[in-house]
Amino acid sequence: MRAVIFDWGGTLTPWVTMDHLAAWRAYADVIHPEDVTAAVALAAAVHAAEQAAWLRVRDHHTAFTLAQVLDTAHAPVTEAALLAFRAYWDRATHTDPEVAPLLTALRERGLRTGILSSTAWPATWHDEVLARDGVLHLFDARIWSSDLPHTKPHPAAFKAAMAALDITTPTDCVYIGDRPYDDITGAKAVGMRAILIPHSDIPPSQQVPTTATPDATLHRLSDLPTILDRWLP
Ligand SMILES: [Mg+2]
Repeated sequence: MRAVIFDWGGTLTPWVTMDHLAAWRAYADVIHPEDVTAAVALAAAVHAAEQAAWLRVRDHHTAFTLAQVLDTAHAPVTEAALLAFRAYWDRATHTDPEVAPLLTALRERGLRTGILSSTAWPATWHDEVLARDGVLHLFDARIWSSDLPHTKPHPAAFKAAMAALDITTPTDCVYIGDRPYDDITGAKAVGMRAILIPHSDIPPSQQVPTTATPDATLHRLSDLPTILDRWLP
């Protein structure tokens, strides 16, 4: 065991159920401040493009970016509108307070630490929230699918995370996530150990049936060292 790689949403951040259409409405209200009809239509168009992209993630593991979604919807981009979108999402971005002491403990054991997330957000947005919460420096590598051709559970996504951590043997890695298909099936398919955090309310439209069994189940991040102790020499 040489590296611990984490999912982000619902794993390093406690799960928050979000209204994706309302997030785009916050954006659209900045683009069309005095035209409710236009704002509703713009939000619906961007939301539809985003939902279609997430279905391609679910069914084909094809990565995408928010810039591509906005382009597909022929939606205008302004810094102020994107700030409104990010402000709506802020509630879902807060790092679990147990992350900093956990990551410090893992690094003291000589383990490398990473993040592999299926996300449309640019890396800079993610790095900014990790820096805000004082944990950015605790991760040796952060891999966001918005910089990749594929999302989880595609093997290439997991291999990109391994490469970023300078690890060549999948069995040297444990992956921790909240989605049985994307995280557990994906990690185990490449040969990693996988630990499930079973507390997220994954929308049914995003779920894919899987028979993969996690190597362990984690109810609190602070319990992770106890689980790893079973596997460390
Ligand atoms: Mg997740």
